[in-house]
Parts: sequence; C-alpha cells; structure tokens
Amino acid sequence: MQKIVIDATIEGYAQAYATDLKATIGDVRNKLDNLLKAIKKYNNKIDILPYQSYINEIKSDYDDLLILKPSKFKDYISKYNTLKNEDSLTQILVYKSNKKGETKSKKFYELISDTMKYKSARMTLAPYILKMGIETCVYCNAQYAITSQDGKPFYEFDHFKSQSDYPFLCTTFYNLQPSCPFCNKSKKNKSCDFNLYTEIDTSDNSPFLFIPQMENFDKTKDPECIRIDFKDKDRNLSQSVKDYNKIFHIEEVYSCHKDVVEDFYWKNKCYTKSYFQSFHETLGVSENIKLLKRFFFGTNMDGNSIHKHPFTKLIQDTAKQIGLDKRFKI
Ligand SMILES: [Zn+2]
Repeated sequence: MQKIVIDATIEGYAQAYATDLKATIGDVRNKLDNLLKAIKKYNNKIDILPYQSYINEIKSDYDDLLILKPSKFKDYISKYNTLKNEDSLTQILVYKSNKKGETKSKKFYELISDTMKYKSARMTLAPYILKMGIETCVYCNAQYAITSQDGKPFYEFDHFKSQSDYPFLCTTFYNLQPSCPFCNKSKKNKSCDFNLYTEIDTSDNSPFLFIPQMENFDKTKDPECIRIDFKDKDRNLSQSVKDYNKIFHIEEVYSCHKDVVEDFYWKNKCYTKSYFQSFHETLGVSENIKLLKRFFFGTNMDGNSIHKHPFTKLIQDTAKQIGLDKRFKI
C-alpha cells in the first residue's frame, strides 16, 4: 500500500542478498547447464531450441537478474518473450529417470524456479525485509506476512511478476513482495500495477487513501453505520483503485474491522487537551512527540512506515481526517 524508495540503503540490501544467495546455493550456471542436458536427454521428440535459448539467456544475465530494478523489467520481459514459444513455459518436461525407466517431470517454469533455488532465496531475503521494517502484507496492510520457521523469520512472498509467466525473475530482489496468504492467493498470476519499490521519491509514497465515513455513526452510534471507503490519494475512485480492490478485496476486508475507526472516534471525543498535557508532564516525553503518538495510536505514525503493524495505513488516514493528529501540537 506504500512504496519504498530505492535509495543507497535498499541497494545495499539487494546487493548483500545477491551475495548471500550465491554463497548459499553455489554455481547456478552449472545447475542450469545440467538442467539443459537433462531436457535434451529425456525430451527428444520436442524442439529444444526455445528452452536452450531461455536457459542460456538466464546464465548470461544471472548476476544482473538478482538485483534487476523494476524500471528495467519491461525491457527484460520483451527480450525473454522472444526466446520462448507460446506454450513453452508450461510445457511438461521429463528431467529425471531411474534404472527401472521411471521418469519425473515438471512444467518448464517450475524447473527454472527449482534450479534458480527460489526456496533458498525466500529464506535468504527474509532478514533484509525485516531490517526494512516490513512485517505486514504490502498489499492489504491488514495481515502479517511474517511468521517464523526453525526460529528464523519466514515470509510469504508474492512474485510481482508471476513465476509462471516470468520465471527468470523468480529470485529477483525487487520482484519479491511480502504478502499475506490471502492476498498472495487472490493475486496469483494476475497483473497488478502496485510494485513495492520505486525509484521516484515523492512526499507521499502511497497511491491510496482510506476515507472513513462517520456521519451516520455520529447520529446512531451504531458501529455498523461506519463505512470505510478506499480511494486513490486524490480521493477519486480511479480505475487502478477499482482493479486493486477487485484483486485484493480491500473494502470487504476492512468492513470487518470498523472497530479500528470507532476506537479513534471515541478517543477524539474523550481525550481533551488537558489529557494530552498530563501525558507530556507524566511521561516526560515533551521532546518526543513520535513516541507519544506511537503510545497513543498503538502504531508508528511516521508517514513513511506503515509496514510494521497491521492497519497502520487506516489509522494514519483516519487520524488525519478526524483531526486527531492535531491534538499533539500542544
Ligand atoms: Zn494481504
């Protein structure tokens, strides 16, 4: 829901991830050579040329692919599209056979993903995502994307450009977006124009805005009367917002969490200026508004970090619209 600007720190993480992955999985080019040999050996009735071209291109681009920036995706997608036949990515190929003549087969894109070691990439990338302060799903901001496995951080990742259509990007740092299982399953190989990473810095890096509608609740005090609209940052229901909502069911998900907005309605009514003054005096944090806000809202209110706790985007947008954030200017 909020983009991350690719600065020197993020570039450093991408580079360190690439170095770690190569040290963990060994020589990928050699593994790709072995895959090509196996495809040639066991699939002699099909035209091998598209598979050979595709694999050789990955071998030659491999170092660049690991840290390929989103602005370059388009050029590489065009290049790799010319290397395959229409159905070659989903073609089932035999890659193994034993002495009894029993064979094992998989789709070509799955063989590429296995050979490029996506599963190892997932574990290698996790500590860097954690360092970036990302713990929630970057699509919905309503669920966590992180769990743990054997005491280590473990993420669900969505491939921004899907593995089945673009397997050469299956371990690219900037193509792996932390997501909850629900959003990952909803998106699958649908195209979505929300890439987490951007090379263009603006004052507000979220294209979206939650607009809580409280008028009827104000009259009735019935929480069911609260509505949470999801619009673009100019308060329009643009086509890209409609598409995003259709894929990730944002309004539907947030309609189950109206209590988050209701809490701040009551806080706005109950907490007076003197309450905030006593907060400052008691805690001695008059110099640290950021900490006071975090304590009060239960999440980080720094506009550029919504990914640590669920619902931070909704809380930040609600606080601004009902004027709660102004209460801290004592
Ligand atoms: Zn999600």
